[in-house]
Amino acid sequence: MSLTHHARTLLRLETHAPEETKAFGRAFADQLQPGAVVALFGDLGAGKTHLVKGICRALGVAEAEVNSPTFTLINEYSGAPFPIYHFDAYRIKHADEFYEMGYEDYFYGDGLCLIEWPARIAPLLPDETLVLYIEHISEQVRRIRLMQPDDN
Ligand code: ADP
Ligand code: MG
Repeated sequence: MSLTHHARTLLRLETHAPEETKAFGRAFADQLQPGAVVALFGDLGAGKTHLVKGICRALGVAEAEVNSPTFTLINEYSGAPFPIYHFDAYRIKHADEFYEMGYEDYFYGDGLCLIEWPARIAPLLPDETLVLYIEHISEQVRRIRLMQPDDN
């Protein structure tokens, strides 16, 4: 997927506390089928991991288990009806590293993929990827946008 292909905003909202971002994640989880790929764009501290915690909790994973997989690249969570793979591509320098870890088995498998720092691997994201942007507005306020997936 290219980053220019999802310029249309389907949904836009603001949260005013970390708990609200988690609550959005819990609600958003209703939209997710097994096999879905969700890319979470946003700077450090935007709230990507909070949103992931909300999604995971709604699907049956204990929130305390959910943390940014900064040193491991992927965390896998069980407890949901399907596997959840939580990626952090922050330390990826070349998409090649992602090829080597067999990313296709994850992105085109039956689990749910939740990806922090997806810009580094944007060319490898499936066209159907659900794209969320989280923007830091002020200390407690975040703007979340859900983008229209590619329809080609
Ligand atoms: P990221 O994974 O994007 O780096 P985290 O979810 O780990 O971000 O952290 C977000 C930080 O911002 C936390 O310290 C959290 O307490 C703080 N925060 C303040 N307001 C919000 C909000 N509205 N939504 C999410 N996090 C918030
Ligand atoms: Mg994080």
